[in-house]
Amino acid sequence: MKIQYKGSVSPEALETESTKLVSEEQVTSSEASIKTQKDRFYLPVLNINHNHEWPSKPLEDRKHFTDEVATETCLGNCCGVEGLKGACCHLDPYDTEHVLGPLKGSDKDEWIRDILAWFRKRGLNLTRADVVIDYEEGKIIGETLFKDAPNNGIFQEPSAYPMLRFQVIGPRYACKFMNPVTYKCGIYAMRPNMCRTYLCNYVLTNFLVKTKSKPNTWQKVR
Ligand code: SF4
Ligand code: SF4
Repeated sequence: MKIQYKGSVSPEALETESTKLVSEEQVTSSEASIKTQKDRFYLPVLNINHNHEWPSKPLEDRKHFTDEVATETCLGNCCGVEGLKGACCHLDPYDTEHVLGPLKGSDKDEWIRDILAWFRKRGLNLTRADVVIDYEEGKIIGETLFKDAPNNGIFQEPSAYPMLRFQVIGPRYACKFMNPVTYKCGIYAMRPNMCRTYLCNYVLTNFLVKTKSKPNTWQKVR
């Protein structure tokens, strides 16, 4: 998952960070509207890639980030915000903090081939464009849907593609494969490696994790 930056999650910090990333002229006119949308959909803007904003929890206070803990956290206490689900699978049109790509390595061609075959077996004859966004289209998406995000330059970078296609959820977007009611991944067993190996800064600074380089060891990474 290509991330530009991530950050802290206290409500006060979120408020500060989200407004800071909007231009000065926009703040006055859109602050109230953004706050209303945040309240309504309960999805604060999270800067999940701002390393410096996530304090490292002492070793003795950390739990193992097991599948069970991951489910509890990601589907109900994402980034330490009660009720928040799956922020890293969402995109925010006011703050393009991360995009759902690039798919690279085996994700790039093999995963796309395999997921299309997986859908075909279930009677859905999808094409590549149904599951990913490529550069030419993504450039236009960046200039249109994300035109109000001060940090939308990521869409102009060929290296950010292919990225997972997304859907509209409330005032934001989320991966096309996220169930919009349960917020669970609809292709969990088939999700790309990008998603399997992704650990946000909240997870890295609060839990003991297994990484790709040390898959058998619970460790404090940050
Ligand atoms: S990995 Fe981090 S950002 Fe993603 S759902 Fe879990 S807690 Fe939230
Ligand atoms: S494939 Fe699943 S885990 Fe990956 S971004 Fe989409 S919903 Fe999230």
